[in-house]
Amino acid sequence: MLKQRPYVIEFLTAAGLVVAPFVLPWLGFAPNTVNRILVWGLFGLGFDILFGFTGLLSFGQSAFYGTGGFVAAYLLTRAGFPYVVLALVIGMIAAAATGYLIGLIALRRTGIYFAMITVAIAEVFFFVEFNPLSDFTGGENGLPGVPTPSFNLGFTTLHFTTGWSLYQFLALCYFIGVVIALRIVRSPVGAVFSAIRDNPLRATAVGHNIHGYKLTAFVIAAAYAGFAGGLLGVLQAFMPPDAFTFDTSGQLVMQTAIGGRGTLFGPLVGAAVWLSLQDFLQAALGLGAAWKLVLGVVFVLLVCFLRRGIIGGLADLCDLLTGRRDAKEPEESEPEAIAVATEPHAAAAAAPAPARPRPEGSPSGPILQAKGLTKRYGGLLANSDIDFTVNHGELRGIIGPNGAGKSTFFKMLTCEVHPTSGTILFDGRDITGMNVTDVCQLGLTKSYQVNQLFAGLTVRENLVIAALSGLRGKFKLDLFRSIDSIPGLSERVQHTLELVNLTSRPDTPVSELAYGEKRRLEIGLALATSPSLLLLDEPLAGMSPRERVETVKLLKSISQGRTMIIIDHDMDALFELAERVTVLQEGRVLVEGTPEEIKNNSTVQEAYLGGVHGVLAA
Ligand code: ADP
Repeated sequence: MLKQRPYVIEFLTAAGLVVAPFVLPWLGFAPNTVNRILVWGLFGLGFDILFGFTGLLSFGQSAFYGTGGFVAAYLLTRAGFPYVVLALVIGMIAAAATGYLIGLIALRRTGIYFAMITVAIAEVFFFVEFNPLSDFTGGENGLPGVPTPSFNLGFTTLHFTTGWSLYQFLALCYFIGVVIALRIVRSPVGAVFSAIRDNPLRATAVGHNIHGYKLTAFVIAAAYAGFAGGLLGVLQAFMPPDAFTFDTSGQLVMQTAIGGRGTLFGPLVGAAVWLSLQDFLQAALGLGAAWKLVLGVVFVLLVCFLRRGIIGGLADLCDLLTGRRDAKEPEESEPEAIAVATEPHAAAAAAPAPARPRPEGSPSGPILQAKGLTKRYGGLLANSDIDFTVNHGELRGIIGPNGAGKSTFFKMLTCEVHPTSGTILFDGRDITGMNVTDVCQLGLTKSYQVNQLFAGLTVRENLVIAALSGLRGKFKLDLFRSIDSIPGLSERVQHTLELVNLTSRPDTPVSELAYGEKRRLEIGLALATSPSLLLLDEPLAGMSPRERVETVKLLKSISQGRTMIIIDHDMDALFELAERVTVLQEGRVLVEGTPEEIKNNSTVQEAYLGGVHGVLAA
């Protein structure tokens, strides 16, 4: 997420655009090159929201660039429509509507399959423009005679024709594009976009309808592409058919990679490098068509040595020079800090586990009832006919040897996988067959056995994403709302930071956290959704003995007033935490009871220790 410094980036952009015509000629930039860079930059703003912020790599943006461009150019040339800006807006709307329809199809797949679908769609559009629609698009001749904008102010008329005069119009369009893009990436929707890029599985699990948000990003990118396509016609006084070619999409991807994805300005910088190299190599060095050879080498070098592009590289350099990165050390090197941070939980650790106070007036009776739950994977019965009930306010432990079916059971409860047979009632409501997002929205979520964090974001940003789903629902198009204006968000995030002892590291990127801290954040993500039933899948997995002790204290403190189910292999820890324990074996419930009953149960001892009685109780 871009830092929330109000208006600084907007102001710097405006200043840069005002100064550019005075500075760039000294650097050898012709006005037409600068104008082309602006059109690519605007095209790239939407693409960066899609690729850099949401993580969806599309090779089909030329379809929308061409659609917007030809609709606007057709209106302004063949249809005799007199209003240039309105024609550009209509072209943009046509591209966005096309993007919506294409997105419905392309977003049914992810990763390479999504990219391949976008390539195919761009090819279809190219064909359609040249053949069935050539009467409207001019086929290989394109549409000549696209007018430039002029504005009648009453006392005078402003004309934006060519060169630096047209630059003023294009710069204004680019500036408005930047302001809108910044609003979007700083909005709650922008936060969810980054979550989808970093970990779509977890974004879904914390209660966001990621399909709706992906489609939103796709439509935004198509709208930007459509408007930029229209500007291309205005810039060249001619709408060229090659707007639709695969080369156009490829060039956009490469320019974004060169400039830096996820920065908004990367495509502009990439276009500046690309087009100035093209001018320099073709005109000054007279390389002709061979300029692409040199460009190819430059591209490979840049991508190899500046993986985050030119802007990302500059940001890294700044961090290095200011020492910002080295200042953050993981928790192993800060034992004192942790000791202080965990102090409030020491009292909870000393208290016997089962005596957890229940808030007055809190509901009683079952919150979760699973009946006859069975999961079959081919010939393997992972879970078989499980009956399981948990009451409001209870802290239940689940143990069982590896392969007993514990994780599968949790996945069924949170609707990550659907049971082969059986039903699940949550708070009296049948949730069998629902999806994980809807179930999270109802108040049932889990923390994962293997951390599922948003790795490119900070601790606070991770928690914000989880908290947003509870506060806004699974899908909301508050595209222009500042994230800071959401009532209750900062309080919920702060409270969760306190619950999981991460108040000292809210702005630390996840990649710089120690393992124990990541485990706590994993629990924090589930907690931030404010669940009424929290499932924890092996919260102590992979921890050192010291981290285990700390985390058990933490779990005790978190469990106050909550309903939780915890799976873990650490039986000592679980017996200390849970009021009742369910033992699974070979996919079935072996026995259920208080920790004391389980410790002394000979069947359990048999299952765990092969009949060495008394060892568990010892
Ligand atoms: P536990 O969490 O108790 O170790 P699991 O629920 O992970 O057990 O697995 C129970 C059984 O189901 C194992 O034999 C495992 O191999 C099998 N299993 C789990 N998930 C799948 C899957 N997606 N496909 C096939 N078999 C699976």
